[in-house]
Amino acid sequence: MPITGTTRMLGLIGNPVEHSKSPAMYNYCFRKYGLDWAYLAFSVSAEQTGDAIQALRTLNMRGANVTMPCKSAVLPYLDCLTPAAKAIGAVNTIVNDSGLLTGHNTDGFGYTENLRRHGVSVSGKKIVLLGGGGAATAIAAQAALEDAAELRVFNLKDAFWPKLEESMSRIRAAAPNCKITLHDLADQELLREKIESADILSNATRVGMAPDEDGCLIPSPEWLRKELIVTDVVYAPPETKLLRMAREMGCLTCDGLGMLLCQGAEAFRLYSGLGMPVEEIRKLLYA
Ligand code: NAD
Repeated sequence: MPITGTTRMLGLIGNPVEHSKSPAMYNYCFRKYGLDWAYLAFSVSAEQTGDAIQALRTLNMRGANVTMPCKSAVLPYLDCLTPAAKAIGAVNTIVNDSGLLTGHNTDGFGYTENLRRHGVSVSGKKIVLLGGGGAATAIAAQAALEDAAELRVFNLKDAFWPKLEESMSRIRAAAPNCKITLHDLADQELLREKIESADILSNATRVGMAPDEDGCLIPSPEWLRKELIVTDVVYAPPETKLLRMAREMGCLTCDGLGMLLCQGAEAFRLYSGLGMPVEEIRKLLYA
């Protein structure tokens, strides 16, 4: 579609955004469906977040994706939040419905949707979750809201630990039926014991991400068994050492790229009500 006087704008806000594949992904979908929309990336600091949201209102943008460092900074400027965004304490998608701005977080949904595409529901599952940052918190909240039975979260006991305890309390309040416990990643004996009785092992740390491609928090394939479902949030490389080890043990694996595409697809659905051609986008942008 050519840009005209009626074209409506959407965008990505955060910093850095120059490397983002979101403009290519969303503009491809707009063209495919003949939507009179255009998507740009805007470099916005945490301090500028309020101004950026005011611009979104003033310019009557359809919506925006939000990345670091604005994901939590946007919260006070929005009119309402979904239960997932509230429990996570961060927003990655804003939808503008006639001036009412709703903050969503599709990261955790991207994770559970990617599992559904592999025939797995998190409902009733025991999950060992490695990590306590943005990706891990989103996965924990969505899995708890989708009735996971148990979440054992293992993270480094570093300066962020008190913040992580707060996040887990927020998620417990939003989904009281899910048993959520927080453990020190250094307790390897407990980690191995919990993996032995888990249904899903989820790496939501940076470990394994390029250039640390040999990084893996599971010291030996013997910690895995073929009934275990193993997932990773890291998408560069597409197959991490953990996923390779799990695949070789016969486990079902789900990669970070699938999660990334599914969170983007959900944001596109929220903007347009339409389905994103996920496999087309995977080939176009990530082949
Ligand atoms: P973050 O900085 O918020 O959290 C990083 C996490 O990794 C923390 O829990 C930290 O304790 C842990 N960690 C870092 N180094 C570690 C080490 N050596 N040993 C043990 N734990 C360690 O980052 P984030 O936003 O949560 O991103 C984490 C990863 O997830 C990145 O690789 C990012 O690209 C990826 N990610 C993927 C998606 C997706 O859709 N697939 C979405 C968001 C993030």
